[in-house]
Amino acid sequence: MKFNIAIDGPSAAGKSTIADILAERLGYNHLDTGAMYRAVAYQSLKKDISTDDEEAIVRMIEDMDLEMTIDGRVILEKEDISDKIRTDEISMRASDVSKLAGCRKALVAMQQRICAEGGYILDGRDIGTVVLKDAPVKIYMVASAEARAQRRVLQNKEKGLDADYDKILADIQARDYQDMHREVSPLTKAEDAVEVDTSDMSIVEVVDWALNLIKEKTGE
Ligand code: C5P
Repeated sequence: MKFNIAIDGPSAAGKSTIADILAERLGYNHLDTGAMYRAVAYQSLKKDISTDDEEAIVRMIEDMDLEMTIDGRVILEKEDISDKIRTDEISMRASDVSKLAGCRKALVAMQQRICAEGGYILDGRDIGTVVLKDAPVKIYMVASAEARAQRRVLQNKEKGLDADYDKILADIQARDYQDMHREVSPLTKAEDAVEVDTSDMSIVEVVDWALNLIKEKTGE
């Protein structure tokens, strides 16, 4: 039977890139849970709902027609918003809505439903601690804020987005602080997670490291 794999860590540590490659290598699916918080942020902005209004946000989520496709696209009410949710504004707003207990409860339930049959790699902030407490493989991926900002600069340049290093570094630090200090499910390493610092590692090195860990933990 296929199991699920948890990857957590701060923003821009390489979780999504690594999860994508691992999923392809193992024949698994990748669920980017951050994209779900981003979709909530996007919808709240569109509908002009304050991120302080928990009741209204929860009601909005209940009515939301959100589809996370197998090939990693985010479809909201039949519209592909995958690229639109990658802006700095949506990043910070996603961190704001993710503080709300009601929002987390709804999205965690959705995530658990999606991966109920196994065969998923989930990346996020609370996967090893909340969503997949029993996952046989839990990875906690970190990198220095400077290394992460540098990577984001390169990614943004490729996509033609704003690529100011100082601003990106400040945004990363602000989001780290908020994600680690919120009351509900703050970003922390699960006791049974294995930590990897990717600051000085290439993508290939991280993938090899993860495949070894998966083999060691599960025999796959
Ligand atoms: O991973 P990504 O940077 O796209 O996530 C956007 C925001 O969503 C994070 O800064 C965090 O606040 C929130 N998030 C979360 N729990 C998750 C995934 C993301 O709180 N499992």
